[in-house]
Amino acid sequence: MLSAILPIYNEEQGIEAFAATLISELTKCTKSFELIFVNDGSTDNSLEIVKKICHATTEAKYINLSRNFGHQVAVSAGIDHAQGDRVLLIDSDGQDPPEAVASMLVKMQEGYDVVYAKRAKRADESFLKKATAKAFYHILNKITSVEIPVDTGDFRVMNRKVVDALKRMPEKQRYLRGQIAWLGYKQTYITYERKGRNAGETGYTYRKMIHLALDAITSFSNWPLRLATISGFVCAVLGLFLILYTLYARFILNEYEPGWPSLMVTIVFLGGIQLLGIGMIGEYISRINDNVKNRPLYLVDETDINLDA
Ligand code: UDP
Ligand code: MG
Repeated sequence: MLSAILPIYNEEQGIEAFAATLISELTKCTKSFELIFVNDGSTDNSLEIVKKICHATTEAKYINLSRNFGHQVAVSAGIDHAQGDRVLLIDSDGQDPPEAVASMLVKMQEGYDVVYAKRAKRADESFLKKATAKAFYHILNKITSVEIPVDTGDFRVMNRKVVDALKRMPEKQRYLRGQIAWLGYKQTYITYERKGRNAGETGYTYRKMIHLALDAITSFSNWPLRLATISGFVCAVLGLFLILYTLYARFILNEYEPGWPSLMVTIVFLGGIQLLGIGMIGEYISRINDNVKNRPLYLVDETDINLDA
């Protein structure tokens, strides 16, 4: 069975039509499927419409969250409740075309564990959104150790193995596309043209996007913490030369203002020590950060050792 997870936040105008297209596409390319609508605290009539769809469709189920928790959490809730051996994540606003699912499933049949969708083109999105997204992915890839695919959203299919592994990542800051990249296994992609919204407006405000970006960076990189160590080290080395020069000017050249050498030496020395101290604390915090995330240390894809025997 394929479980399709549809997060819903104020989508009253579009979901009915979208659900209908998705259902007809899934009927064509799967034997059985379920739709899991996750209402993420919509303030419009979305819940009523979702309930109506679920009433009329045996394959459709819904989860109504108690308030707006954000897209990533809504999708995570859907994943927790999915029963299929494959799980599809798809936006409910029509930007992720249901027609692409068939080719994703073909790739799954070829033996891939994750098939994500890469945007060949992004229609109807503001220049600012495209530019910020591009800059963000560029920086993220520079500072993280896992390769997080560029130009992809959460639109993807994954199998039970990956879903169960993902559920072993209990971190509160969700950045699913990064987490799934971190998991490994056999991953591939298809390309698609990202369309404009069917109706309504984006629920991803810049505020929510900045939060997502910060979650992504802090969850997948300790680089900002390391910055203190690096700059501390650089300042300390430069400071050492400055101290040497100051002493040289004071005692050899005898060219100085009274009070200047001692002041200079103290400031540079203390500045370097302080930054290094912060950096050292940063190194410990980054290790604490790695530990509290409580991710599995490794994931085994295959083995012929049977520990249960
Ligand atoms: N969404 C959600 N909670 C939110 C914001 C959005 O569940 O707080 C849903 C929304 O209904 C849609 C998907 O997440 O199905 C993607 O959101 P949106 O289209 O607003 O983001 P964009 O495509 O503009 O990045
Ligand atoms: Mg959208």
